[in-house]
Amino acid sequence: MKWVNHIAIAGAVTAVWRPELVPLAVLGSTAPDWLEWVLQLAGRRVRHRTVTHYVAGWAFGLAFALLVWDWHHALTAFCAGGLSHVIADSLTVQGVPLGWWSDRRFHLFGGRLRTGQMGEYWVAGAFVLACIGFNAATRNFGASEYTPFFWDWPDYYHQGLIDGHEWKENRFRWL
Ligand SMILES: [Zn+2]
Repeated sequence: MKWVNHIAIAGAVTAVWRPELVPLAVLGSTAPDWLEWVLQLAGRRVRHRTVTHYVAGWAFGLAFALLVWDWHHALTAFCAGGLSHVIADSLTVQGVPLGWWSDRRFHLFGGRLRTGQMGEYWVAGAFVLACIGFNAATRNFGASEYTPFFWDWPDYYHQGLIDGHEWKENRFRWL
């Protein structure tokens, strides 16, 4: 799957969860691919979608971050990003390995997508739309908290953050 789609999926989900963690989740969502370059630079021969794409490896990292140790959710965001990458890759024809114990490929939903074709853009687009929808549906419950995707201009006005002129100029700008 292409990076733009990995980034869109991880970025949108994290923006709903914790906007400040988006950069780390995005870094993690591309990590299975760039870690291959790092390993290669370190002199190891790595075939694409092998060691850095173990589903079990990222799931284990995420469990570790959630249960054992983390620093301001940084490791959680990074590993969740990595896990989202390998799960998204498992939708494709090539699939991903579940873990180090087997060469067999793991496919989700039959692994029908082909990298670079429209399918993966649809998947990523659906994720982003779902996150925007979720955000729109829940934004009123969080009251004054920052919400991604939507700029709540009337609310900023009431909080005295902006003056009337700014509100008038921006009231129809929601994105
Ligand atoms: Zn990959």
